[in-house]
Amino acid sequence: MSNTRPNSLTTSITYLKGVGPKRAELLQVELGVFTFFDLIQHLPFRYEDRSKFYKISEITADTTSIQLVGKIRSKKMLGAGRHSRLVAIFDDGKKKMELVWFKGGKWIQSSLPLDINVVIYGRPQNFKGKWNIAHPEVERADQFESRGGGGLHPVYSSTEKLTSRGLHSSGLGRLIRVALSEVRREIEETMGEEILKELKMPGRLEAFDLVHSPKTLQEADSALKRLRFEELLYLQLTLLKQKHSVTVNMEGVRFEEVGDKFNEFYNEKLPFELTGAQKRVMKEIRADLNTGAHMNRLLQGDVGSGKTIVALMTALLAIDNGFQACIMAPTELLANQHFKGVTELLGEMDVRVELLTGSVSKSARKPILEGLESGDVDVIIGTHALIEPAVKFANLGLAVIDEQHKFGVAQRSKLWAKATISPHVLVMTATPIPRTLAMTAYGDLDCSVLDEMPPGRKDIKTVHRTDSGRLGVNDFIEKQISDGRQVYVVYPLIEESATLDHKDLMDGYDSLTRRFPLPEFKIGVVHGRMKAEDKEFEMQRFAKGETSILIATTVIEVGVNVPNATLMIIESAERFGLSQMHQLRGRVGRGGEQSYCVLMTKDEFSKEARRRLETMCRTNDGFEIAEVDMDIRGPGDVTGTQQSGIPDLQMADIMRDRDLMITARYIAGNILEEDPQLELAKHQILKINLDRILEGRPNWSRIS
Ligand code: ADP
Ligand code: MG
Repeated sequence: MSNTRPNSLTTSITYLKGVGPKRAELLQVELGVFTFFDLIQHLPFRYEDRSKFYKISEITADTTSIQLVGKIRSKKMLGAGRHSRLVAIFDDGKKKMELVWFKGGKWIQSSLPLDINVVIYGRPQNFKGKWNIAHPEVERADQFESRGGGGLHPVYSSTEKLTSRGLHSSGLGRLIRVALSEVRREIEETMGEEILKELKMPGRLEAFDLVHSPKTLQEADSALKRLRFEELLYLQLTLLKQKHSVTVNMEGVRFEEVGDKFNEFYNEKLPFELTGAQKRVMKEIRADLNTGAHMNRLLQGDVGSGKTIVALMTALLAIDNGFQACIMAPTELLANQHFKGVTELLGEMDVRVELLTGSVSKSARKPILEGLESGDVDVIIGTHALIEPAVKFANLGLAVIDEQHKFGVAQRSKLWAKATISPHVLVMTATPIPRTLAMTAYGDLDCSVLDEMPPGRKDIKTVHRTDSGRLGVNDFIEKQISDGRQVYVVYPLIEESATLDHKDLMDGYDSLTRRFPLPEFKIGVVHGRMKAEDKEFEMQRFAKGETSILIATTVIEVGVNVPNATLMIIESAERFGLSQMHQLRGRVGRGGEQSYCVLMTKDEFSKEARRRLETMCRTNDGFEIAEVDMDIRGPGDVTGTQQSGIPDLQMADIMRDRDLMITARYIAGNILEEDPQLELAKHQILKINLDRILEGRPNWSRIS
């Protein structure tokens, strides 16, 4: 609803109390949050119930987090140097358990009260058959009471970078509540009373209040539904209205020629035979580009299916017809990789390709910007930097967006504003969206699917191992390295505890370097706290084969291509979602060699985690994995995981909320059937908001 908001909602978050320029920039880049309104639309992805207290004896492998009340009986520092830690004994009256701090122990020790009631909250873990909690939240029970601490706590998705700036879930929550209190008077109702009544949904302001400060899970659930439904209803109204209008087919630039560049590349440079699927998709794209209509195509293909070459060949078609092309990636790392890949593929061909990211220096930027404006630059590859006002194109004819879900609507529409006629759009994603669902969500969007892997690709063999199998896993790492291959070891990112993440990662590094000592073995580390250039440096070392093992948090998730890497080890795999594990696994198996994925877990984990692990071991098929993922999470599961990342919608998710979307479509259809022009009094709210959407950008009916 980004363009239905009155002015103060659109105030830049830079002006929010607690947000300076640094945090503002991070919120923009990491979450696509630019305004107060964007921020309050950052909805929790689950809630923690802090109203109940449990006993230590109730902890099971399915317990993800737990709240206990009891007394701390003792506390002392153990170990020395880097391995020192604070250990406290917590007593719930029946049983005792250890609490552990690996960081900040000295300081915490002095603040831990002994022998008075405290409230403990954290994630239990099993260490040698005993439960403990590392880095729990500890609060005096009387203070907990007096601030009304026992309620539902919203949990927000954050990122590693945000977390390192104090914007973990609860930090974000605080900002969101401040923003909401600032704009609450501006939040208008957007759905008629009749609809609200019929669906038993709360009003809009009430819904925002309830999602961010809920009292019961039922309230939170119905408020979440209301906000998501509203977005989907307007999406459907927009789509259905446009279906009836004559302007369905927007004008597009016509690429009539298959010219020199395309042919030269195809005949002389292409290093392999295209797969059948790639050929088919190229045909589909070429047909689109020649109709005079505007192409708006979603290209789905599992990781490794070869989307990049399709993007490049489409770009060459644009160039052959006198247009420029841009390829936009969600991260610098990916933009760099695309740039490298594309320039290598083009070789000596006379095509000017440039890279534009946040790290390109001012002086290097100048000639690139000039080249774009004069038309000298044929292809520009980059990140968000491409949508900055300073970037002007002579004649942009094609925009390729890789892994689109990281870009918000507003950002994309900025790119289109850079051409007089909207450029053709090719969105590439590895997230499988069933075609019918995509059509319902995007109307006349076209879908292409790369459903065939390049030849010689062997299925990645996936196994599950627990700590007791670690020696064998280490031997296997050694074997891969001595065969000249490379290995990824990936650690999870815990939303709440960056300290703990870092500890896991660093412990892993320590034990790996003990087993694989320098100088014989070379190990690199990449994590979210590093500066972009340091990360890049480490990634490049790995890509060049200078390091054999890369230890990383999930920063490597999207798109990284190192064909010589054949082993992916996912640590604490029980904590990863299915699609995330599948993405990670896709980092190996990119060359001709047999590749492997090892899912490491503790001995105990939840039933759901077991199902995820089994699925990963059973299949390499992204669509099948997506099905199981949906099945586990269930549609409309408000306490489920984060959004699966489909574009355009801020709050709803077409996969997760598909039932809600079908309801929205049905209701939108009824409304327009009864009142096609929305002239009835009861539809005036809808009409006003819909007109705003239809007049302005962004327009939900187009991905562009
Ligand atoms: P993704 O779809 O994940 O973006 P890429 O485009 O990065 O996949 O391709 C993965 C790897 O497969 C690259 O190394 C690429 O060069 C290679 N590749 C792509 N198409 C083919 C093909 N038809 N035959 C052989 N290798 C291919
Ligand atoms: Mg890719």
